[in-house]
Amino acid sequence: MANSKQKYIVVGAGPVGSLAALYAAKRGYQVEIYELRSDLRDPSTTPLNFTKSINLALSERGINAMRHADHENLIQHVFSATIPMRGRMIHGRTPDGALYEAAQDYDVHGRTIYAVDRAGLNMRLLDILEDMPNVKFFFNHKLTGADFKRRKAWFEFRDQTSTSNRPEEIEIDFDFMIGADGAHSAVRYHLMKYTRMNYNQEYIDTLWCEFQIKPSDPSNSGDIKSKFRISPNHLHIWPGKKFMFIAIPSDDGSFTCTLFMPGTEFAILEADSSELPAFFDSHFPGVTSLITPEDLISSFQANPHLPLISIKCQPYHFSSSVVILGDAAHAMVPFYGQGMNAGLEDVRILFSILDKHTAVESNNSNLSEVNDAAFQRAAALSEYSIIRVADAHAINDLALQNYVEMRASVLSRMYRVRKFLEEL
Ligand code: FAD
Repeated sequence: MANSKQKYIVVGAGPVGSLAALYAAKRGYQVEIYELRSDLRDPSTTPLNFTKSINLALSERGINAMRHADHENLIQHVFSATIPMRGRMIHGRTPDGALYEAAQDYDVHGRTIYAVDRAGLNMRLLDILEDMPNVKFFFNHKLTGADFKRRKAWFEFRDQTSTSNRPEEIEIDFDFMIGADGAHSAVRYHLMKYTRMNYNQEYIDTLWCEFQIKPSDPSNSGDIKSKFRISPNHLHIWPGKKFMFIAIPSDDGSFTCTLFMPGTEFAILEADSSELPAFFDSHFPGVTSLITPEDLISSFQANPHLPLISIKCQPYHFSSSVVILGDAAHAMVPFYGQGMNAGLEDVRILFSILDKHTAVESNNSNLSEVNDAAFQRAAALSEYSIIRVADAHAINDLALQNYVEMRASVLSRMYRVRKFLEEL
């Protein structure tokens, strides 16, 4: 049984930090969650989609991690707001200019991935944590320093209700820190001073920008049943060799779309965004009948054009005092749809290893360290880093490779199949 006096602090209340907090709270630890931003559930908070994609693909890796959180309502709550996607739908034009779409199922047995609203999933986790007596939230707290030998951390706190612009600094003690503070992790930065961390980061030459396909108006289409203008059960891809446009369904009938394109091409269209509809007509056929030219231009001008980073590092921990999870440990490009899923899986694997070490040591009454939670945790964290680094690096590599698959290889495969059928 976990030592309930142990204080676990989680830095970052994104999906990974929130799930990690739930796993820790379920084991009886005193959990404190420190988050840079204000509470996501507060309507005055800047919407998450300001810097993050609105919806994403949730797959078995992430679902399994939530299943193992051992909270009866979590999976039920999450699934009540997901849309199954059974495959990808490739959109293009035939050599004689006609529009076509071709479905490619993900699984012969019909298993699916799911479109989920990122903020909705995050809010569900926060709601569950809110009801747990051993969890405390500290929003608007930014980690600014950490001493992993003395187990102390410093946070800058901005009181949103105060008229003063000056942040306050607070110092806190902890037994164990879980760093889930995203790709530009402050925990990772401080961890580097305590361990010989190998670190590699790469910005790929692609930026992304979000658009939206609005729900259909039943009074126009006559189809009162469908609020979706294209199949809701597919992840839609308009491959463009150097570029790619994708669309993922949302509960309200809309699709969140993302344009991925090299920075130089963004710069050309930024200089004259009136060219955007023609650009879409030539590279992503059919999109301008789903998004009006005016909406294309206004989204392109209003929404940020953001970079994509891939990070590999190792080890993920120091002694018994800190571990990094999720994007903080292995931010990856989004083309494999696994960044969040892999981060959630980190949580499941970390706690399964921690549980194993706690159980082994506690059963052995001859060991003098029987009550030494730190000793057990240090062994568990070493094992976690060894096991997880190899898998996380592999997913990072697969994610990079899948960009080529999604934007180009899907096309050549389809041409090959069509040619083969024509020759029969
Ligand atoms: P984050 O979501 O980045 O959360 C980190 C939290 O830490 C934030 O709330 C932040 O405010 C807080 N924080 C930061 N610094 C500090 C600090 N100093 N002190 C305190 N708090 C701090 N993944 C998928 O699985 N499927 C997909 O389909 C998918 N699609 C994607 C599409 C795009 C375009 C992009 C860019 C990413 C996509 N991802 C996808 C990846 C996914 O978004 C990330 O892997 C996931 O959000 C990582 O979660 P996290 O909790 O580790 O980090």
